[in-house]
Amino acid sequence: MKKLIIATKNPGKVKEFQELFHKYGIQVRSLLDLEEPVDDIEETGKTFEENAVLKAETISKQFNIPVLADDSGLEVDALDGRPGIFSARYAGEEKNDQKNLEKVLVEMEGVAPEYRTARFICSVAIIQPGREAIVKRGTCEGRIGLEPKGENGFGYDPVFIPKGYERSMAELDPEEKNTISHRRDAIRKVEDWLKELV
Ligand code: IMP
Repeated sequence: MKKLIIATKNPGKVKEFQELFHKYGIQVRSLLDLEEPVDDIEETGKTFEENAVLKAETISKQFNIPVLADDSGLEVDALDGRPGIFSARYAGEEKNDQKNLEKVLVEMEGVAPEYRTARFICSVAIIQPGREAIVKRGTCEGRIGLEPKGENGFGYDPVFIPKGYERSMAELDPEEKNTISHRRDAIRKVEDWLKELV
């Protein structure tokens, strides 16, 4: 099996990427598996794409190997696109999923159902030594629920209801999330490169 390094330490993302890449015959290793410790990478970019490239480039330079990184988050229309690129640390630097989603619910109090539209975004960057960067964006449209529901997934999944569903992302089976997610959409867009890798 071909191996690919994914530049993340987020266990929720790692699990989803592992399942998404399995069907391409690619085994995913994350920063959690590396023997050499890797410092947290400061996300100083102004867009999801800039941050994804920054993460992939940093790790690729350190190990001189091809690396895929993603930068993802939630964009809420009624909040002018917040939390956006600050999704992981929306309620503070300690990156607390529960506090983050509670903050979104508080800010959305009193917002009528038709104005609760939102989307998950996932920008994927692939950096290979000596080759041009590949950068693609995936999305998943939906709306913000009135309360957290479900135990699956991670991050904002309990408050995000995908378009066409009445259940939150955290109430879907992981397999079902993987057919509609922003991460799946982004991976689909780099499929040609994945096939070349295999
Ligand atoms: P990143 O690690 O800087 O890309 O931050 C991503 C943050 O966006 C995570 O900490 C989550 O809060 C949120 N996020 C990204 N993808 C998902 C998802 O699939 N479900 C729920 N929250 C997500």
